[in-house]
Amino acid sequence: MMICNYTAEDYIQKLVEFHGNFAPGLLIGGFMVEIATQNMKQYEIYDAICESPACLPDAIQMLTPCTVGNGWLKIVDTGRFAIALYDKKTGKGVRVSLDASRLEPYPEIKKWFLRLIRKQEQDKDALIAQILHAGKDIYAVKDVIISENYRGKHIPSSIAFCSICGEAYPEIDGKVCLACQGMKIYE
Ligand code: ZN
Repeated sequence: MMICNYTAEDYIQKLVEFHGNFAPGLLIGGFMVEIATQNMKQYEIYDAICESPACLPDAIQMLTPCTVGNGWLKIVDTGRFAIALYDKKTGKGVRVSLDASRLEPYPEIKKWFLRLIRKQEQDKDALIAQILHAGKDIYAVKDVIISENYRGKHIPSSIAFCSICGEAYPEIDGKVCLACQGMKIYE
């Protein structure tokens, strides 16, 4: 069972290097990206949406050309463990999610996904074994059309200087920059 041209072993090693530690969600994310890319073979390029900010964006960034930085990957946080790849022009694509209803044969995955046990109590080796054994069986795959609002077109804006902080920002954001409008990132 390959994950986007990597053996599971190589992928696990790569994800630890990229992510900083082993995360089950990133191994599962590898399978999700594998399934999604298999379903997008007719497209030369595609954009990505990730519905969870945890783990999944890293799987997409490791295994596809889509990154947050190049704008081809957008995180739209619905809290659901799902990704979508789609054609930028038409919005047509595929959504892959982890399907909780298919986890009965895989109790370790179920316990992890539904947070039925604490992290320290999770049997990591058994969890990995079950994820690999499950292969592509635990995912729901659906054809989707991404709404135009989420297709990631940048609205070009001229640049202004904020009258409060003095830094450059997109004029379209308002009279002053978003930070000075009350986005309190720093104390
Ligand atoms: Zn400002």
